[in-house]
Amino acid sequence: MQGCVTPIRPAFGRLQGLTCGLRSVCQRKDTKRNTSKIHKKKENHALSCPLIRYVVSNDSFSPSAQSLSRRILLPSPRMTKCNYCPRYCSINEGTFGFCGVRTCQNGQIVLLAYGQNTGWAIDPIEKKPLNHFYPGSQVLSFGSIGCNFDCRFCQNWTTARSHNLSLLKKKNTPEEIVALAKQLQCQSVAFTYNEPIIWSEYALDVAQLCRLEGIKTVAVSNGFISNEKRKIFFDQIDAANIDLKSFSDEFYRKYCRGRLEPVLETLRYLAGQSSTWLEVTTLLIPTLNDSDTEIESLSKWLVRNLGAETPVHFSAFHPAYQLTAVPSTPAQILFRAREIALATGLRFVYTGNINDPEGQTTYCPQCHQTAIARNQYKIDEYNIDTESCCRFCGQTIAGQFNEKTT
Ligand code: SF4
Repeated sequence: MQGCVTPIRPAFGRLQGLTCGLRSVCQRKDTKRNTSKIHKKKENHALSCPLIRYVVSNDSFSPSAQSLSRRILLPSPRMTKCNYCPRYCSINEGTFGFCGVRTCQNGQIVLLAYGQNTGWAIDPIEKKPLNHFYPGSQVLSFGSIGCNFDCRFCQNWTTARSHNLSLLKKKNTPEEIVALAKQLQCQSVAFTYNEPIIWSEYALDVAQLCRLEGIKTVAVSNGFISNEKRKIFFDQIDAANIDLKSFSDEFYRKYCRGRLEPVLETLRYLAGQSSTWLEVTTLLIPTLNDSDTEIESLSKWLVRNLGAETPVHFSAFHPAYQLTAVPSTPAQILFRAREIALATGLRFVYTGNINDPEGQTTYCPQCHQTAIARNQYKIDEYNIDTESCCRFCGQTIAGQFNEKTT
């Protein structure tokens, strides 16, 4: 009996593919939608089928990496390893990696989402959030589907947690993206809304063209990238906002199915060895990652490893995806986090996702006058001169600035 390979889009880390002789059984099941019930049936079928051999992947980032029901890959002469992120998925011909957009074709890892996106928008750069990178400018933002994390609190889960390629409604070549940015007078292009590391090839082609045309690029990323690809990716990017989701590896494992250390390594690299402008964001979730102790440890680490001038954003969580029972973050928690972080020596600490002009203003670290006053994403006051210095005392303000806001 001839074997068949039935690619099944991975639904949140469940079964990725079956290879067996029972072609009719597999095909019949594949016509159904990927509900959890169907997945259970697939798993039961897979576990009982004598013609299937199993290899548990080396996905050591999953808390249940040894569980067959979590992640099963099947041996194949064409199994290829993807090295874009620290998951190092081994992908069988025709099946998908954890992120759902990378597959194996003829023994090569292929990005299926190349040249496609879920749509674009013109955002203020402050929305990324980046407060020290051409404040007041506009950024052409677009994203794709899938992610190399599985955050239970994902705020963009409809696309980032989906592996449905039909959500990629727009097709834009890199040349078209650059032309659009110019036409819409955007100073930069942002790879955002989902994790750009998993669609690096597309992002980097856009970034290279942007450089030629004098357009800046921004990556909004979880920083979970492999050592091999970190330099290749970020050296093409002008500014990055990296999510530091918590300062606890246990949190990363339990709530993101990720790991902390590779993210810290990316932060160290960006601060110490690259020219990419770096800002850091931590989404504070009540009771899960908002303790004073954790915020203090995280802030001290940032001062020690990235420098006191790195802008840090504490933003408010809103119930989403699988964490709907947890309430939104009260503003008081963000105020408190900002105080703690400033006390550790960080000079530019901001609150986000709440209305807080005080917490969103940039103060000169020398004379403490207002360098940039913001209200939501709007700039009300701008006191930085052509040399990126405070107009009142001449102190250099860390970042990249226009002479005036646009
Ligand atoms: S980028 Fe995707 S396919 Fe590649 S290792 Fe990471 S999760 Fe797996």
